[in-house]
Amino acid sequence: MANTADVISLLEEMNVIIQENKDYLTQLDMPIGDSDHGINLARGFQAVSEKLPGLAEKDVGTVLKTVGMTLVSTVGGASGPLYGTAFMKAAVAVNGKQEVGLDDFLAMLSAAVAGVKLRGKSTTGEQTMLDAMVPALEAMEEAKGAPTGAVLAAGLAAAQAGVERTKDMVATKGRASYLGERSLGHQDPGATSFTLLLSVIAKHWA
Ligand code: ADP
Ligand code: MG
Ligand code: MG
Repeated sequence: MANTADVISLLEEMNVIIQENKDYLTQLDMPIGDSDHGINLARGFQAVSEKLPGLAEKDVGTVLKTVGMTLVSTVGGASGPLYGTAFMKAAVAVNGKQEVGLDDFLAMLSAAVAGVKLRGKSTTGEQTMLDAMVPALEAMEEAKGAPTGAVLAAGLAAAQAGVERTKDMVATKGRASYLGERSLGHQDPGATSFTLLLSVIAKHWA
């Protein structure tokens, strides 16, 4: 289970991993985009980390809603509204809860996926963040019943495999789609950043 304090420390760790991978994510966005994905997310998660101390008394839903709104207003680009929507939809799934468990997390991720699909008019196979999110969700739903750590590990492994598969995809959404067939062979930045965020949960969720 994760209470508000646990969720806040997970979000702090997410900021750390995004700052550490800022250049890497930006480099992935170079050949198929505009070289800003790491910069965008680093700005957004820095802003999130500055909001966290003020959220200690709130329920988990309120924390996640604040994260989503902060990302929308600071990240920019395509990923800002999409990650913002993901966190805001996840927030609705755990509205008012002081503590969340694995089932809640799967409901959050499911709501996040639906939100990204709707907002991005996108689906799997289009070389986007969904190509890591959807396999992760499916793998965790399949692994349900196993210990939490094992379920999260299965989700992370599926997300990582999904990131690899983006190299075999032609982008049909976002900036990379402007390249058409030339997007082939490139790893999607958004799928990669999602996998980094999930790795924090897999590593730190007790
Ligand atoms: P921008 O492309 O506006 O510069 P970013 O570089 O921050 O924004 O984010 C790019 C990432 O956003 C892509 O790698 C992809 O994963 C994701 N993305 C872009 N468009 C969509 C979409 N319609 N649906 C889902 N994800 C998308
Ligand atoms: Mg970009
Ligand atoms: Mg941009």
